[in-house]
Amino acid sequence: MKRWIIPFTLLCCSSLVWAQADGPALKPLTVIKAGTLIDGVSNTARHDQVITIRGNIVVDVANASSAKIPAGATVIDLSQATVLPGLIDAHTHIFLQGEVPSEGGYDIQLLKYPQSFRAARATVAARRALEQGFTTIRDMETEGAGYGDIGIKMAIERGYIPGPRMFASTRAISTTGGYPLEGYAPEIEVPKGVQIIDGPVEARKAAREQLDHGADWIKVYMTHRSWIGKNGELVSQPTLTVEELRAIVDEAHGWGRKVACHAYGGIGMQRALDGGCDSIEHGLILTDAQIAQMLRQGTWLVPTLHIYYTDWSPADTPDGQRDRKRASEHETSFRKALAAGVKIAFGTDVGGFPWTDPIAAEFPRMVELGMTPMQAIEAATSRAAELLDRAGQLGVIAPGAYADVVAVKGDPLANVTILENVGFVMKDGKVFKNDLAEKK
Ligand SMILES: [Zn+2]
Repeated sequence: MKRWIIPFTLLCCSSLVWAQADGPALKPLTVIKAGTLIDGVSNTARHDQVITIRGNIVVDVANASSAKIPAGATVIDLSQATVLPGLIDAHTHIFLQGEVPSEGGYDIQLLKYPQSFRAARATVAARRALEQGFTTIRDMETEGAGYGDIGIKMAIERGYIPGPRMFASTRAISTTGGYPLEGYAPEIEVPKGVQIIDGPVEARKAAREQLDHGADWIKVYMTHRSWIGKNGELVSQPTLTVEELRAIVDEAHGWGRKVACHAYGGIGMQRALDGGCDSIEHGLILTDAQIAQMLRQGTWLVPTLHIYYTDWSPADTPDGQRDRKRASEHETSFRKALAAGVKIAFGTDVGGFPWTDPIAAEFPRMVELGMTPMQAIEAATSRAAELLDRAGQLGVIAPGAYADVVAVKGDPLANVTILENVGFVMKDGKVFKNDLAEKK
């Protein structure tokens, strides 16, 4: 008889200990008083709302007049601010620093900098994203830093360094002749900023390797470089074949993961769509037929508008003409895609421009090109969460969502540039930055 009693007692006690450590009853309660709430999904803002958070999860959102503030809750008073879900940048590069040619440009990153130096800078970049209210990023490849993003993500998740939730894409994939480093003597073997593949077998193997090492997304370059063609049109060199891309998409989808395709336009864009890309990155030149195909296939567009307005070469140079053509083609395509109802998520390509610049500079670009401020905010919250298959968990302030919350002074619906000054950041129920609220 005694033999049976002891295990039962152990079972009883261990489950009791578990309940005390992790049970919902004992997780701390936080209440945020929101002067104005933009919840990421609703079409209009609501005033005087009370957000109740248990641990790291939002459990209730109610009108201040009817809400009961539980005894013992930590109250954060943001009644003079506008509260939003943590923002999502769906296209970042924490391993790039907006390289300027005078400082060695892109090439020096791969040729002269130890990976530890680049990882240290990526750590700072991740912190910069969080400081600016971006509590989630989809980082779109490490540019020759291998699987460095997986380590940064691990360090954030384990609490060693501050940073956003990260969706990592590791090394990215292109073809021979499809990515820097370039322009060196043929006798010298130089590193590449991506994993190079040729043929569907190598393509599938690269995808498997990257997925095996923790890639949440696969990033593929379907076009490379761009220039002005003989009829004045913007041209971009295609890279992977449809067969190569299909092997990657097939493999990634089998793992329940998705494929993001850098594509400017032309042949490479068509192959990206025919090969089944889940998101088109940049999408500078979209024909009406391609927009229709995106709608049919449910393809996302992550436009990254702002970066195409930075660092233009002089107007009387070939590069300068190309830079201006890129921005004007992009504007046309973005407006057409928006009008047609293509799914659009906020992404910036930050890292391509310095992490010291405001990530939120993308918001006014989206609004200038036809989005309402609310549409732009949704692109960076609930829509981006949908792209990441995290609808309801991220990009929204509603019961069941992670407590990723930011706040600004003023009304971003009246002036979207206000989002460049995020004064309060909570990620996963923990306050990271609070320049706005009194903690009680
Ligand atoms: Zn990029």
